[in-house]
Amino acid sequence: MPNELKTYLKLRPTFHIRTFGCQMNVHDSERLAGVLEGEGYSFVTSQESADLVVINTCSVRDKADQKFFSDLGRLKKVKALRPEMKIAVAGCIAQQQGREIQSRFPHVDVILGPQNIATLPELLAKTSSCVVATGENQDYHLRKVPAIRAGGHRAWVPVMYGCDNFCSYCIVPYTRGREQSRPVKDVIDEVLSLADQGYSEITLLGQNVNSYGKGLSDGMDFPALLEQIHLLEGIKRIRFVTSHPKDLSERLMETFRDLPKLCNHMHLPVQAGSDRVLERMNRGYTVSEYLDKIERLRKLVPDMAFTTDIIAGFPGEEESDFEETVKVVRTVEYDGIFAFKYSKRPHTKARFFNDQVSEVEKGRRLNIILSIQDEISKLKNKVLVGTVQEIIVEGEGSAPKNGGSTTHQMGRTRTNKIVHFESENNLAGKLVQVLIAEGLQHSLKGRILKD
Ligand code: SF4
Repeated sequence: MPNELKTYLKLRPTFHIRTFGCQMNVHDSERLAGVLEGEGYSFVTSQESADLVVINTCSVRDKADQKFFSDLGRLKKVKALRPEMKIAVAGCIAQQQGREIQSRFPHVDVILGPQNIATLPELLAKTSSCVVATGENQDYHLRKVPAIRAGGHRAWVPVMYGCDNFCSYCIVPYTRGREQSRPVKDVIDEVLSLADQGYSEITLLGQNVNSYGKGLSDGMDFPALLEQIHLLEGIKRIRFVTSHPKDLSERLMETFRDLPKLCNHMHLPVQAGSDRVLERMNRGYTVSEYLDKIERLRKLVPDMAFTTDIIAGFPGEEESDFEETVKVVRTVEYDGIFAFKYSKRPHTKARFFNDQVSEVEKGRRLNIILSIQDEISKLKNKVLVGTVQEIIVEGEGSAPKNGGSTTHQMGRTRTNKIVHFESENNLAGKLVQVLIAEGLQHSLKGRILKD
């Protein structure tokens, strides 16, 4: 139906968002949805029927990049049948390849980078064939952009944007710009409002949350921010991602011991287990410094869970370097890892390294790492059998199991492990105690102690 007719009939225009990539991007999509709903749009689940399709892109890895371009090709056919449909491309690929997208895909109406989310309505209102907004926005962290969040008890709150680290493989500093920390009051106000709406678990987001506070005039740092959030009523659990090992301070480690609401799980990306490779990655720490921090944290909080990121086959990675990475995986015994084959990213230093590892070799190393981790995860989950875990329930399955009166429930431990169990009631959002009966590779099964 043409938009003019919709306006005449007072029907709300509709939008659909497809999101690629990391949690930061997922949250950016919540903000894009907030901006659009504020303009009178309503969300629809089908891309084909939407008046506006937003694709929120990610360029951290090659795969998401390719998926986005095939999506765009498919939408060209849909738009040929419904020329009134608008297409907006947001996120990191938009930021980095805006002009190229404009010339290669003339069916795209708006291209906007991550720092320009708030301007989407103005861009849509412009009548030129394609509008590109990828300029740096120094005040981005100060803009109050509404978010439409998925239901449930968990909400994500960005505390900083961008990154100053320039790891040699990473595109983020080129697409999201330099670090900008949100003022403490803005973060606290947002968490308070989320608590009022019934959200009980907050995950603070940033490319490198450990360096939160840089550039703020009030002397605030990340441990101090955590302490303030910890005081807020209604918030039962606090988590954060992502931490950079070089900026993980003793004080931040102590907050895990001192703040009961702070969940005992840390995602601490190691990326490689060889000092030579870490140096070429420009990571700013050595393997022994990294392992030392893990050990110190485990001393403070013995049941601390760790997850990590690993890049398989970084340029110049020799077999002996790879073996060092395997050693780190076995030494730390992570609760989970996110491992990927290295892929060349535009603008980054590592794409010009002339000792690239072959695709076959990268695949072989990735498979080895993943299978070692699978064994570790399974063993770590089995150790939990017989323990009682505190779970916040995320939701229930749709149908009673085997036609019985119970429904399938799913929630997470404080260490971020997924637990499945049955209950007669829908316990979404409730804090319950579950006796773990089975440890599987990627999750746990248990029995609720009090329903
Ligand atoms: S710390 Fe390194 S890997 Fe992480 S966002 Fe910054 S540049 Fe990228």
